[in-house]
Amino acid sequence: MSAPPLSVSPALADPVLDRLNDAQREAAGHGDTPLLVIAGAGTGKTMTLAARVARLVAQGADPQRLLLLTFSRRAAVEMQQRVAALLRESLGLPPTSAPPALPWAGTFHAIGARLLREQAERLGLSPEFSILDRGDAEDLMGWVRDGLGLASQAEGRRFPLKGTCLAIYSRAVNSQAPLAEVLREAFPWCAEHEPALRTLCRAYEDAKREQQALDYDDLLLWWAEMLREPDIAAWLGERFTHVLVDEYQDTNRLQSAILHALKPSGRGVTVVGDDAQAIYAFRAAEVRNILDFPRAFDPPARVVTLEHNYRATQPLLDAANAVIGLAPERFTKRLWTDRPGSERPQLVAVEDELAQARWVCERLLTRREGGLKLKSQAVLFRTSSHSAALELELARRRIPFVKYGGLKFLEAAHVKDLLALLRWAGNPRLRLAGFRVAQLVPGIGPASARRLQDAMDAAADPHAALQAWQPPAAAAGDWAALAALLRRLAEAPQWPAELADGAAWYLPHMERLHDHPGPRRADIEQLQRLAAGHATRERFLTELTLDPPQATSDEAGDPMLDEDYCILSTIHAAKGQEWSAVTVLNVVDGCIPGDLATATPAQLEEERRLLYVAMTRARHHLALVVPQRFHVTQQRRFGDRHLYAGLTRFIPPEVAQHFDSVGPAAPHWAPGPPTPPTGAVLDLARRLRDRW
Ligand code: ATP
Ligand code: MG
Repeated sequence: MSAPPLSVSPALADPVLDRLNDAQREAAGHGDTPLLVIAGAGTGKTMTLAARVARLVAQGADPQRLLLLTFSRRAAVEMQQRVAALLRESLGLPPTSAPPALPWAGTFHAIGARLLREQAERLGLSPEFSILDRGDAEDLMGWVRDGLGLASQAEGRRFPLKGTCLAIYSRAVNSQAPLAEVLREAFPWCAEHEPALRTLCRAYEDAKREQQALDYDDLLLWWAEMLREPDIAAWLGERFTHVLVDEYQDTNRLQSAILHALKPSGRGVTVVGDDAQAIYAFRAAEVRNILDFPRAFDPPARVVTLEHNYRATQPLLDAANAVIGLAPERFTKRLWTDRPGSERPQLVAVEDELAQARWVCERLLTRREGGLKLKSQAVLFRTSSHSAALELELARRRIPFVKYGGLKFLEAAHVKDLLALLRWAGNPRLRLAGFRVAQLVPGIGPASARRLQDAMDAAADPHAALQAWQPPAAAAGDWAALAALLRRLAEAPQWPAELADGAAWYLPHMERLHDHPGPRRADIEQLQRLAAGHATRERFLTELTLDPPQATSDEAGDPMLDEDYCILSTIHAAKGQEWSAVTVLNVVDGCIPGDLATATPAQLEEERRLLYVAMTRARHHLALVVPQRFHVTQQRRFGDRHLYAGLTRFIPPEVAQHFDSVGPAAPHWAPGPPTPPTGAVLDLARRLRDRW
């Protein structure tokens, strides 16, 4: 493929670009034709994207018109900071100055939500529409499933549970594939229920419409659908002069459809990513998006590849290269670095999970004594529950930590209660919220709550119907207090004071309904602190739902932000990040690859890339811990069991030679059953007889 000539821009003299290597500079200074940067971990893809944005702004682009799509909100915030620092330098601004913000930096879902709210009326949607998180969506799916009586009609054949139904629906939406195909490929055991599932999906759509609610998938689906209107597509395409996407390898078909609909000619489009780090196929991500990107345009997009790694030392890269080198198929090349360092990564054999937790804590403290802040040290794991033993040990030793990708703050019942109140006040048609809130009042049970919601649904003005509703006699006094509160919230919303108003009403109910009020009260206070950072109730609810805070006070021991704490994270949530020292837990078969992820070669390859992603987060120190005995409790189906686990199959002996083996027990390669010895034929009968 012959590359178009490099556009020579005056900014080539820019100090921002001076810091970049040639290939990075080429990408950052590239003109307006479509551009793909495809490169391995730590080669500065995200950095190049930031430099490109800074250069565009320095050259006069309007920051309001740059659409920057990142993998998480955390990544969007970091991107803002990087761009700001580069701009200060480039424009010669003092360090205290605040360069222009990038209001349209965020995840696909968050940006979708904002655009849909802007255009809500045109789309036949209330601007106060509610966003359902996965838990809400599952509950709604369950409610619809029960309403249709699908389980009883399945005639003895088990109808998929609500979580599976939602997963099927979600996969069909995100992959844009027909239901039959999704069932055949990903949920073959549900294929026999196809007609019923189709009815269910339709009824689920109806329920969302009636309640003015969109789920996560809708945020992309509606956005893509909105772009089918030529006038809207043309307007949005012009509104954003540039669209830049990080981590493009993990976008799904719907996201790529949105990108192409926004910018059909590819003008002003930049995407960056690494096919070797594609780890979201299980959510219908499509690595072909990045591989096929250049040829989607005519002339094809410019492709820039980067191989110089700036993150890690050579011994760490050698090990990571060796792991990914065993993958049958990949696009990006071997990484190299000129960063000095001779410390090799470690394979640490420990007896069991408890020993693993102890080893990790000791290592964290030793490194901190050696001058490495806890914040520069991360512990990564395949599944959130894998850190349970470690969390306990950390708490025991009073080592503060923050956990990402774990149990969500928003899943706590008391947080859900209070948020449901706010959501119901904004959108009285949202049954899920109404049902929950009404039942907080003593004397109101499911039947009365349903009567109330039916009355509201039947009325043209649901707020008025709520105020006129007659509760059961026993509930009258408490109901009056709630009705008055809802009237205040609906008629004169004052953010964030209304949250305080709601919390004051809720706290006595919380203490009556839930155990352990102490930590729960702290969560409610935390919610109020968070609220202060958002302009309106609706913005608060949207952002909280799309990007929930990850650490609850009882979970994380309430680390003060300016204090030192170590990072615990799932590998999925660690994407794009880096730390000086990285420890990966449970690098054993059964964890990486997970027990349930070995069914198909594609799943297995995704697990291999996951290990690669984990290893390439480290800058100087990398340790993979291998408990010799691993306790698996996740799979109830098999009951509790102990598993003698060997080192992951992704590190066979030829890869292991890139590591130092340490720890009380040397890691073993899950020896198969020994083969029987082959010797001369023994005549045992004769031997036995000869004894006599
Ligand atoms: P990942 O694939 O993990 O997302 P990436 O390719 O996006 O990685 P970055 O996070 O942008 O890589 O960069 C990795 C590290 O290398 C960062 O610490 C960054 O500051 C540094 N870096 C990138 N480019 C250069 C450069 N030209 N000179 C010095 N340091 C650089
Ligand atoms: Mg990156």
